[in-house]
Amino acid sequence: MTVKVAIDLALDRLFTYEVPVELCQEVKVGQLLRVPFGHREARGFALQIDDSVQRIDDRGTERESGGRTTINYQLSTINYKIKPILGIADPAPFFSPAMLKLVRWIADYTCSPIEMCLKSAVPAAVLRPNAKPKELLFVEPCAADGTTPVTPPELTAYQKELLENIRRVGGGWVQQLCREFSTTPTTLRALAAKGAVTIAPRAQRRDPLAGRSVVPSKPLLLNGMQRAALDRIVHAQSETLNSKLETGNSKPILLHGVTGSGKTEVYLQAIAHELDYGRGAIVLVPEISLTPQTVRRFAGRFGDKVAVLHSALSDGERYDEWHRIRTGTARVVVGPRSAVFAPVKDLGLIVVDEEHDTSYKQDETPRYNARDVAVMRGAFENCKVVLGSATPSLETWFNAQRGKYALASMAARVAGHPMPTVHLVNLEEESEAYASAPIFSKFLLDAIAERNRRGEQTILFLNRRGYSRVLECKNCGCVITCPNCSVAYTYHSADNCLRCHVCGGWTPPPVSCPDCGAHEFSYTGVGTQRAEQALRKCFPHARILRMDADSTSRKNSHDDILSKFRAREADILIGTQMIAKGLDFPNVTLVGVLNADASLNMPDFRAAERTFQLIAQVSGRAGRAEKPGEVFIQTFHPDSSVIQAAAEADFARFASEELKEREVTGLPPYRKFATALFRAKESALALRWADLYAKSLAKYPGLSVSEALPPALEKAEGWYRFQVQIRAASARTIAAAWRWIVQARPLPKEMRVALDIDALNIL
Ligand code: ADP
Ligand code: ZN
Repeated sequence: MTVKVAIDLALDRLFTYEVPVELCQEVKVGQLLRVPFGHREARGFALQIDDSVQRIDDRGTERESGGRTTINYQLSTINYKIKPILGIADPAPFFSPAMLKLVRWIADYTCSPIEMCLKSAVPAAVLRPNAKPKELLFVEPCAADGTTPVTPPELTAYQKELLENIRRVGGGWVQQLCREFSTTPTTLRALAAKGAVTIAPRAQRRDPLAGRSVVPSKPLLLNGMQRAALDRIVHAQSETLNSKLETGNSKPILLHGVTGSGKTEVYLQAIAHELDYGRGAIVLVPEISLTPQTVRRFAGRFGDKVAVLHSALSDGERYDEWHRIRTGTARVVVGPRSAVFAPVKDLGLIVVDEEHDTSYKQDETPRYNARDVAVMRGAFENCKVVLGSATPSLETWFNAQRGKYALASMAARVAGHPMPTVHLVNLEEESEAYASAPIFSKFLLDAIAERNRRGEQTILFLNRRGYSRVLECKNCGCVITCPNCSVAYTYHSADNCLRCHVCGGWTPPPVSCPDCGAHEFSYTGVGTQRAEQALRKCFPHARILRMDADSTSRKNSHDDILSKFRAREADILIGTQMIAKGLDFPNVTLVGVLNADASLNMPDFRAAERTFQLIAQVSGRAGRAEKPGEVFIQTFHPDSSVIQAAAEADFARFASEELKEREVTGLPPYRKFATALFRAKESALALRWADLYAKSLAKYPGLSVSEALPPALEKAEGWYRFQVQIRAASARTIAAAWRWIVQARPLPKEMRVALDIDALNIL
């Protein structure tokens, strides 16, 4: 008997090993095996077991392209002795047959090597032979008994206070205590030296709630819309999703609920229902919203049945959580995109919250979208899938419109809380009053001042993508756009020209504004830091917090900022899109979008969609409790239909207009869109290959292919980049064309190329 094994190396091929007679009964597909590889021991997953004895002459290797087409290389007739496996690393298979099928689907769909896909689907520690859970130092207060005093008398006042605090939380990890009580390891060691605490290594899971209390929560009484949505999910009819997939599955359900409509409560009760029937659940959340606040909502309802796959976990901790899931101790998994692979037993439900979120797309091989993987896993494992959002992606919305997905809508906020009042502020009129566009309009400043007076809180939002520099008229604010594609030109300093990232067209920067004739342009916008400074000048007494990539680079600083704001230790939170999602602060009654045009002018065909999502999500942060909310959106384009639809939170209108546009231009969801990024240390080499591939692919039936386009970021980390955009009726066509070209025109080894099917970032 032989077994084909995928080894943790990006070789895109499987290796054949012999199974010793004594192991023939034990070896199963999906297991992790120990195998000899060169002169060392490696680990790999058993993918296929063969009873036939045809084991000579294939050199023990087969090339697997995306798991489907198998090409046998008969390069040599040397009798090659197949080596036996060394053993079974873990008798319980890591991959069920359904999960293997899912991984193969990903390999196929994304055109990635199967073992890269397997690797993304398990914790890194699984494949490393000697991986042990990391040991951390745990501080425990010494118990008071009759002989030793409760608090050693020689402690300083500060040490006493610290000891009190440690007692109160029942001890904790060194790092965690240092953070929580602003102390240092040295101070903790001093406490230990005086016999007040013990410090010892412990290989234990770190509590994702980091010692913060979890208040058990009971199911809320649902309102009518929530009830209807829950019924829909719980009694999902056995309808065929798609004739190509397995039959007997329920359709995925799009839960389209406005911000504050109580989607999370619906998820919680749907999960409770699954647990009642002995089934488990997975909840995917965007990376950024995996805050203690989110985790607490799930842990509060399901206690230690919850496993959290936080991206901040160490390899060992992740392995431990995985183990709790695999053994069935944890039944509900909450995590970012990779949690879609969690080995939940008897999986009954997968929830993808904020399904439109771009963090579900992995930006390295395999470039899968966890939302789509969730839908496929639901089909393969016959479990329910709920995609939730206030602003669904047009791909998902389109599927719901065509009846491929079922739709449940919740059009109003819970408990009769009104949607916020939205004001559009015309920055053009404001500029006339101030000679140049102000960062804050006087409407917004007045509104902030009023919140400060009333002790209510404000969130200010400013989005700026660092590297996409558009040319904006200083006088009228108009942005120079490509006449063929109606997207903003991106300024390229290297050759001082404006390029369209959709059609590849270019033009020198204009001398005067085509709209107003003025001669002055600006290349940069206002960043959060400058906005914060300006805000401090306007409100010297206000307490201001800033949240962006710079202010949150420290571990946990993200949570710290949000906790402070929640505890009302600040009046104003100003930040980038980090603050747009999922936050629920009852005391926030004002939200300001400083420049809605920044995302509208992005050189990306999804610019309008992103703008709508952004405005709707940010506005969703205002007035979530009893106090009504108000939103100010500053823009140079108050008459833009996207901005108006967003202001009215009219998703259906926006979607129907945008879909018409996409249909005409042949873009997703009507056609599949992929990018191929070519990189080389030499610009000419990258261009030559990008150009060659573009021209060859253009001849492949059914593909529309762009020229080789220089992305906005033409050189990154020393690599020159060129991009080719590919559209076709199906991802399958793109993948087939790609496999063909890679075989027909092998790239030299100085070249790197990455195909991204369903690319979300157009660079
Ligand atoms: P969404 O995820 O749709 O934005 P949430 O689930 O965060 O909305 O709910 C918003 C708020 O309403 C939360 O504070 C939640 O506890 C509360 N809530 C949800 N459902 C109910 C209900 N049926 N009755 C009362 N309050 C509810
Ligand atoms: Zn163009």
